[in-house]
Amino acid sequence: MKFSNTEGLRQIINDAAQYLQPPPDLKPSEWAEQNIKIPIGNAIPGLIRFDNAPYQREPLDLTADPECNRITLMWSAQVGKTTLALCAQAYKIVQDPQSQIMMQPSQGDLGTWLETKFNPLVESNPEMERRIAKPRAREGVNNSRMKSYPGGFLMFSWSGSAKTTRGRSAPFVVTDETDGYERGHEGHPVSLLWQRAATFGDRRKLLEISTPTIKGASWIEASFEQGDQRFFYVPCVHCGHEQKLQWKNVIWDEGKPETAKYGCENCGSLWSDAERYTAIRGGHWIASESFQGHASFHLNEMYSCFRKLGDIAQSFIEKKRSGDLQTFINVSLAESYEENGEGVRDDLLVDRCEDWGDLIPSEVVCLIAGVDVQDDRVEIEVVGFGGGMDHEEESWSIMYRTIYGDPSGQQIWSDLDTILFGEYETHDGRMLSIRATGIDTGGHHTQSVYKYVKMREGRRVYGIKGVGGEGRAFVGRPGKNNIGKVNLFPVSSDAGKELVYSRLKVPEPGPGYCHFPTGRGEEYFKQLTAEKLVTRYVRGHAKRVWIKTRPRNEALDVRVYALAALSISGINVNTMASKLNAEKATAPEIDEKPVDIRQKMRQRKRGGFINNWRS
Ligand SMILES: [Zn+2]
Repeated sequence: MKFSNTEGLRQIINDAAQYLQPPPDLKPSEWAEQNIKIPIGNAIPGLIRFDNAPYQREPLDLTADPECNRITLMWSAQVGKTTLALCAQAYKIVQDPQSQIMMQPSQGDLGTWLETKFNPLVESNPEMERRIAKPRAREGVNNSRMKSYPGGFLMFSWSGSAKTTRGRSAPFVVTDETDGYERGHEGHPVSLLWQRAATFGDRRKLLEISTPTIKGASWIEASFEQGDQRFFYVPCVHCGHEQKLQWKNVIWDEGKPETAKYGCENCGSLWSDAERYTAIRGGHWIASESFQGHASFHLNEMYSCFRKLGDIAQSFIEKKRSGDLQTFINVSLAESYEENGEGVRDDLLVDRCEDWGDLIPSEVVCLIAGVDVQDDRVEIEVVGFGGGMDHEEESWSIMYRTIYGDPSGQQIWSDLDTILFGEYETHDGRMLSIRATGIDTGGHHTQSVYKYVKMREGRRVYGIKGVGGEGRAFVGRPGKNNIGKVNLFPVSSDAGKELVYSRLKVPEPGPGYCHFPTGRGEEYFKQLTAEKLVTRYVRGHAKRVWIKTRPRNEALDVRVYALAALSISGINVNTMASKLNAEKATAPEIDEKPVDIRQKMRQRKRGGFINNWRS
């Protein structure tokens, strides 16, 4: 037989040869850029490009590198960690088929991931769709627990579900948001999966991804530290110096986060967003430790080419204002939150007391009081505030008094009035009154406190109700649903204590710093530092709880109430400080303000007037 169509025959042989060839030896990142379309919203997806997220290439390629068996991503939001994992999973469905496990914190998280990430990816990529078994097909499996394809299964599991974790293993394991996993009796779900994958020997590979949580309790941070700790270094567009992006180098004009710029740590030039993106595109990973088969990567939100620095700064300010800095540190900076577990040392505070005399330091622009009501006394602190960036007021403890008496009687309250509605003089001759007061309504004398507050709400005396629970805002919306019909402001004592302690830790005078006068006495500082934050595990979850290390802590409570009153009042200490500075700059040398007799006497008694007159 003579075959006449030689051209056609050659075509058939060529076509067959294509299938006989092994797939081209492509790294996962190269393969993804040639094959994978990532759907974003309703837009028609194009092929994925790593040019705007170049840091994704290296960890993605390691998922197919026989030298590497564990990859840890301690990454922030907005840098594409889910996309990276999807590309690795798609590669092991289409290009190099093998079985896999995908773990999420909960069944709900898994459902969301399937609906919003995985299924849209499959729909956008016909080659994946062709390989994954059809739902209800005679051959293969496709349900919410498992999807099969030629060469393997993709199995789903979530922490806290023995059913979906027990007895399952696969050579490739992806664990997403590991810091949200419930730790069971047998151990952490990731280590259980990892131990089971040992049956695959050298072929086993783990990709674990998360934003971190609390220092010491964070799974991902511990894993990161076990690995070779790679950081992404980017070259300055002005001087070429390579550096990792750090939050401390971000600066903005006070009150204008939209002006945020990145300051080069070498030449000090300020990068615009466009310059930062250019730097990121020219960056590369550098490991801090030697590689032993475990690569670990850290990345924060400043590396996102889709996030303006101004928006990140805005988020910082908002989180800080609401007393939730931990979320910013965890989710945007991808850093663990350091607890004040060791507390603050009272002796260090005693050592730094200052002698500012009887008059109030000139930096103070506003006085606020905090009041705690006990069975036999009230305790009052008057705090002076001065300017500081973004609600990081500098503070001076002006007065701490204990008035003994029966809170159900009259005397104690009229004594309190004397303090709250008196006038206080500063070194530069200003008379200050207390602008707002926060008073605790808990305890045994709620009725008396309601009565006191009711008459003085117009003078910014606020009733405060302490509330518990993690993750609450420092001050909530007031409610009037109480027997005294007063506005009651819920104040999170946890957030308040955290705020006080973070400020007590500020080491140098300036924004946030707390000044204390000499002669305050050790007991005050012991009370102020009476609590510490520790980590407790509740049903496998790390929980942060405050514990008292000393029986009395009123000094700490009243400072929390004073800070709450400042927050409720809406007083902008910064604006007041700027105004005062402007007035001082234009004011004549001698202040001719009339002085009444009482004030003169007070001055004389304190010695301030005499001293001024002598000099
Ligand atoms: Zn530079």
